[in-house]
Amino acid sequence: MINDTDMKHLRRCIELAKAALDAGDEPFGSVLVSSTGEVLMEDHNHVAGGDHTQHPEFALARWAANNMTVEERSKATVYTSGEHCPMCAAAHGWAGLGRIVYASSSKQLAEWLNELGVSPSRVRNLPIEDVIRDTVIEGPVAELAEEVRQLHIRLHVKR
Ligand SMILES: [Zn+2]
Repeated sequence: MINDTDMKHLRRCIELAKAALDAGDEPFGSVLVSSTGEVLMEDHNHVAGGDHTQHPEFALARWAANNMTVEERSKATVYTSGEHCPMCAAAHGWAGLGRIVYASSSKQLAEWLNELGVSPSRVRNLPIEDVIRDTVIEGPVAELAEEVRQLHIRLHVKR
């Protein structure tokens, strides 16, 4: 179940997604939160330089692997503006991170991009559950998903 604290972290993810868009990157942002509620790390998408593996969820998984114990990772939550792609879902699983909460789903993103006439990406839009098992996953959140949709419209209408 998504509570007020979750909403606060998801709103921060959307702020980060906006910052990414303003920086010329794609609008995705993520936050890593410890079991005690401490924000450990946040990041946004950095693909403008041409490296399309520079996703925030991947960066958080790497950071967690280098800076947290196995137990700390298993109890940490990753919040993200858009559901993990298969690469990031796998990284999340390999890093042994815990719960995932997302504002908008990969399925929604695929629908939005289709509506905008954007060709689907080469990497399939698989749900996280199709990539990793035994993970608590929550989302999408309707009111926030609409905000994320607006960011993707800005990205693609601008181009
Ligand atoms: Zn990703």
